[in-house]
Amino acid sequence: MGRVEGKVALVTGAARGMGASHAVTLAREGADLVIFDCPGELPTVPYGLGTREELDQVAAEVEKLGRRAVVVEGDVRSQADLDRAVETAISEFGRLDQLVANAGIWTLAPSWEMSDDQWQETIDVNLTGTWHSVKAVFPHMRERETGSIVLISSINGIEGLPGAINYCAAKFGVLGVMKTTAMEGGPFNIRCNAILPGFISTPIHKWQGAYDFLAGKPGGTDADRLAAAPYYGVLKGRGPLDPVNVSNAVLYLLSDEAKDVTGIELPIDAGHTALPHFNPAPVQ
Ligand code: NAP
Repeated sequence: MGRVEGKVALVTGAARGMGASHAVTLAREGADLVIFDCPGELPTVPYGLGTREELDQVAAEVEKLGRRAVVVEGDVRSQADLDRAVETAISEFGRLDQLVANAGIWTLAPSWEMSDDQWQETIDVNLTGTWHSVKAVFPHMRERETGSIVLISSINGIEGLPGAINYCAAKFGVLGVMKTTAMEGGPFNIRCNAILPGFISTPIHKWQGAYDFLAGKPGGTDADRLAAAPYYGVLKGRGPLDPVNVSNAVLYLLSDEAKDVTGIELPIDAGHTALPHFNPAPVQ
C-alpha cells in the first residue's frame, strides 16, 4: 500500500520544478493526479515559463508509475480555471481528496524601483492564486467532510528578503490563508498546512537577475548560485536542496500519517530558520 493509495490530488504549477516532483512523488505512493499549469503570459517574469510539453512529460511519468494523470492548462489567477480543474477531478475520478497549491513566481527589484505591475502580478499569482486554489477545492471537501491541503509558502514567508518585497508580502500572506483555512476547515475534517522551502534547486532562480542577486554583483553566474546555497543553511555539504525533499514533506502532510496535524508551518531548509538573525552587512 502506498502512503496516499487511491487518493486524488490536484497539484498547481506542476509542469516543472517542485510541482512536477510533488506530482511524481504522490503518484509513486498511489495517488491519481490532476496536474495544473501553463498560465500563458506573465509579463513581469524575467525567466522562461513552464510549457505544455513539460506538463505532458510529468503526466507520462505519472502514468509510467501505474497511476492516472489528467492535465489541465490554466492560470491560478483565474477562479474559473481552478474550478474547472476541480470539476475535471470529479468527472474523471469521482472526487478530489488533496490539494497542493504550489504555483508561484519570483521577481526581483528594490521596493522603491518596483513597478505596480511587478508588485501586482506576484501578489496575484502567489497569494490570490493560493486563495483561489483553496476556494476551488473547499466546497467539495466540505461536502465530503474530508480533505487535506498543503500550501507552499517559503522561508520568505517568515522573514524579509531585500529585493523581493512582492514575493515576501505574498508568502507571508499564504500563511494567513493557511491558518484561516485550518480553522475554517477543522469542523469538516479538512486539514491545511504550509511548507516553507529554503533554497531549492529549480528553474525559479536560474536566470541572470537571480545569479546577480546571489553573487551580490552584476555578472553573476550559475557557479555563484551554487556557491551561495550553503550560506542559506547549517547542514554539512548542502548546495541547493533537492525538490524531492520538499515533496516528501508534502506527502507526509497530505497522508493520514499527519491526520492530527493542521495549521503548521514546516520549514524544509537545511536549518535556515535555525540561523541567528544577525546582520551580515552592517552599515558603518
Ligand atoms: P518553478 O520551477 O518556476 O515552478 C513553478 C511553477 O508554477 C511553474 O511551472 C510555473 O509555470 C507555475 N506557475 C507560475 N505562475 C502560474 C500561474 N499563474 N498559474 C499556474 N501555474 C503557474 O519554481 P519552483 O521553485 O518549483 O516553485 C514552486 C513553489 O515553491 C513556488 O510557490 C515558489 O515560490 C516556492 N518556493 C521556491 C523556492 C526555491 O528555492 N525554488 C523556495 C521557497 C519557495 P510557468 O513557468 O509557466 O509560469
